[in-house]
Amino acid sequence: MEERIYNMSVRNIIYIPDKRLRTVAEPVAEINKDIHILIDDMFETMYKALGFGLAAPQIGVLKRVIVMDCSDEEDEKQDPIAMINPEITFFSEEKRAYKEGCLSIPEILEEIERPDNIRVKYTNIDGKIIEREADGLLATCIQHEVDHLNGKLFIDYLSRLKRDRIIKKFQKLARRRAG
Ligand code: ZN
Repeated sequence: MEERIYNMSVRNIIYIPDKRLRTVAEPVAEINKDIHILIDDMFETMYKALGFGLAAPQIGVLKRVIVMDCSDEEDEKQDPIAMINPEITFFSEEKRAYKEGCLSIPEILEEIERPDNIRVKYTNIDGKIIEREADGLLATCIQHEVDHLNGKLFIDYLSRLKRDRIIKKFQKLARRRAG
């Protein structure tokens, strides 16, 4: 017998310049069935879009929830991680650069430098508070997704010229879609 009676569904990902991507998301007060459904749908949406991570605002839900899977193709297993109300409590001095992309800014890849090692505190889907360290790609992933919860995007780390060029391109695309 199935434990859950609902089916996971793929939600629509929103793109810049949608204002919801620039809004600070609200903390989750209670981990209930709605949050479990949200997280399941976020994983489904992320895997379908072939992303490493997804934040709830990217599907238009302004709640502090992120999902990630930073396992690479050589890893045999998936490594899904969901974080509720994540908070980064430590950033290392050492930095590392990765080419980052974002499902809300499709087809743009830019090298971004961020702290290489972090500590993050969050609530898991069982309501347990977890504190863990992360480095490498996972550390970048967590920082990228937590930024989303604060209305911040990876293009904000680029030069103004580069960022404005990307924003203009997507404004044009949005107008074309609307028109
Ligand atoms: Zn993103």
